[in-house]
Amino acid sequence: MNEHSKNAVIQAQRNPTSKYPRPPYRKQTQTWPGLACEMNPPPDHGETSYCGSGRLLGRRALITGGDSGMGRAAAIAYAREGADVAINYFPDEEKDAEDVIKLIKQAGRKGVALPGDLRDESFCRKLVEDAVRELGGLDILVSNAGRQQARESILDLSSEDFDATMKTNIYAPFWLIKAVLPHLPPGAAIIATTSEQAYDPSPQLYDYAQTKAATMNYVKSLAKQLGPKGIRVNGVAPGPIWTPLQVSGGTTMDRLQQFGAKTPLGRAGQPAELASIYVQLAAEDASFATGQVYGAAGGSGQP
Ligand code: NAD
Ligand code: MG
Repeated sequence: MNEHSKNAVIQAQRNPTSKYPRPPYRKQTQTWPGLACEMNPPPDHGETSYCGSGRLLGRRALITGGDSGMGRAAAIAYAREGADVAINYFPDEEKDAEDVIKLIKQAGRKGVALPGDLRDESFCRKLVEDAVRELGGLDILVSNAGRQQARESILDLSSEDFDATMKTNIYAPFWLIKAVLPHLPPGAAIIATTSEQAYDPSPQLYDYAQTKAATMNYVKSLAKQLGPKGIRVNGVAPGPIWTPLQVSGGTTMDRLQQFGAKTPLGRAGQPAELASIYVQLAAEDASFATGQVYGAAGGSGQP
């Protein structure tokens, strides 16, 4: 069997309810921000399945949280679609990031690792400058990094905690977008990862859920503001997806074991199942899509 037909088998039509591991999931916990390489079962980011077809040939992308989860799935897909990719991640995530850079290079594209803490405005500005210098410009910003820490009660949520979530999920995209705009040519795309939490918030995610509602909102206001400049702004709204964020405090242990069980598809989603959405929103054939939020949530969380 040659490489092409092997991929054709992998991508054959499958039953989405049984395509990936179903609950109950194993008990596990990691220190924030967690590592994909220590999760059991390992998440699927499309490492063996994503097939590119030149849809982003020559584009230059910066992806925050590109080491794991949705960001890694997007990074792999973008590289296989022909883009050069810079990834940002928290310095503790070097191990995951190295795997991603290796995969980008295996796709024949330039992969640039730019670790650092997005809660710092001057770092956000430097990140964009470094990405522009390393890639020779930027056409796509995927603002995907996020912080989620479940708290049963608002009384358990400290101001430091609240502030860290706001800094990561609200301020960092604001700083990054301001820094990147002067570099983006007409035709460029900004893609933000929001969440079904934006319109169907969990009681344990008081702070996180409101940042995702804010993200959905800024996607729409910025799309109006930047449309006349030819820059599109869209969002991706995942449902419950099997990523380090969930095993490092994003979900409590008992809920983690039943993660995704209540969706009509009966399981957690995998980052690979969102990769094509990030590609589609960046691609030239989506040139009339702006201010939109595309979802993949196993049937749950519809607005
Ligand atoms: P993930 O843990 O793989 O990715 C989150 C990433 O955010 C981390 O890898 C880390 O690199 C980055 N990050 C967090 N704080 C940072 C900081 N201060 N500085 C630099 N980087 C930082 O998990 P994921 O689930 O793929 O998360 C990606 C996005 O998807 C997030 O915005 C998250 O809110 C969103 N999301 C996730 C789910 C889910 O169920 N997993 C559902 C809806 C939305
Ligand atoms: Mg990570």
